[in-house]
Amino acid sequence: MTSPYDLTSAEQTLLSTVTDLAEGFAATAAAYDDRAELPLDHLEALTAAGVEQAILPADVGGNGVSYQAFGELIRILAQADASVATIFLMHAGAGIALAQLTAPTLGSYYADEFRRGARFANALSEPASGNTFLQPQQPAIPADGGFTLDGAKRFVSGSEIAEHLLVNALVDGVPAFFGLEPDETVETIPIWDTLGLRATRSQLLAFHSTLLRSDHRGRGLLPTDFAAIPAGLPAVSLGIADAALAALVAHARGRVIQGQPLTHQQWVQYEVADVESRLEAAKAYFRLALFHADSGLPRTIGSLSRAKLLANRVAVDVARLGVRIGGASGYLRTSPIQRHLRDAEAGQLMAYSTEVLSGQVGAEILGL
Ligand SMILES: Cc1cc2nc3c(=O)[nH]c(=O)nc-3n(C[C@H](O)[C@H](O)[C@H](O)COP(=O)(O)OP(=O)(O)OC[C@H]3O[C@@H](n4cnc5c(N)ncnc54)[C@H](O)[C@@H]3O)c2cc1C
Repeated sequence: MTSPYDLTSAEQTLLSTVTDLAEGFAATAAAYDDRAELPLDHLEALTAAGVEQAILPADVGGNGVSYQAFGELIRILAQADASVATIFLMHAGAGIALAQLTAPTLGSYYADEFRRGARFANALSEPASGNTFLQPQQPAIPADGGFTLDGAKRFVSGSEIAEHLLVNALVDGVPAFFGLEPDETVETIPIWDTLGLRATRSQLLAFHSTLLRSDHRGRGLLPTDFAAIPAGLPAVSLGIADAALAALVAHARGRVIQGQPLTHQQWVQYEVADVESRLEAAKAYFRLALFHADSGLPRTIGSLSRAKLLANRVAVDVARLGVRIGGASGYLRTSPIQRHLRDAEAGQLMAYSTEVLSGQVGAEILGL
């Protein structure tokens, strides 16, 4: 029987290229995390391998990989280095959105920039908007050539290397999207000293009468636009969960207590079976949600919301079990176990958070 999740041969080649690159990313993940340094060389390696061209949708001149392939690509990256996966996902989300939203007015400008390896970032979350990053509260005021923005956007992953920002603001009371090349009016406030996803350097940006150009304004989002970030965020958590599971298995096999490896303790077997089967279930549901997205089914966002909720939670559960199995040696900075827990916790915070998603899904089920 044909699987509904089949990938084309070009997609399989892309994923095998990314898998090869990811081996190198995994080897440096701990060091970049420790230094909270942007892994720019890894991002450049992805561009050199043609990943941007592959994931750019066909309607803006790219190869237009399926959601299925895109989700797997992000999961592979996250398993190797969750910060690389997160920055790349935010870059992809902003680059693809700007290419699609401005195509009617600016033609191929942003698609060309994305393809050549210009770095993109999402400056959407506002200090006062909480998780509702698509509903900005900060107004853009009419000015010569466009609108000026005074205010702040926070947790902008990869902002320090971004050549283009996707910014939203209220124009006449309605949310509007702009492409912005950061200039001296955009100030980076270095707040990013975090527990997890440290190498994303998701800084606070302050805007001082920054011009949002009318000719860089995009249209509103359409259901047919490629939803990179909703499709990629569950994959970030699933990749972290895979890495956390591998780390705990390696530890349990290597740690010998009173002559027996930890793998022989029954509680370890039971708990591993529990988290691994829930992880596999979350992956299966995620693939179903991506299949819905590839099929253009109307439940796409609802499915991806549930997939994020499941993936965020199972990643934390696997990583917490890793800490128990790891004991004090897994708690050392030299062990990957502690990093996976720190990264897993961040998955729940990124919008939409597990609380917001639970509210949306619960309200839908209850018919509110
Ligand atoms: C690693 C990382 C990378 C990020 N990268 C980017 C990026 O590149 N670009 C960008 O624009 N943003 C980014 N963000 C921001 C992120 O997506 C959230 O929008 C932002 O974190 C929300 O603010 P907050 O985390 O301070 O939580 P708060 O909004 O202060 O939330 C606090 C608590 O309230 C809950 N809550 C908030 N709003 C609601 C609501 N409406 N209903 C119910 N509960 C609610 C939350 O779930 C949480 O439990 C990133 C965040 C992280 C952690």
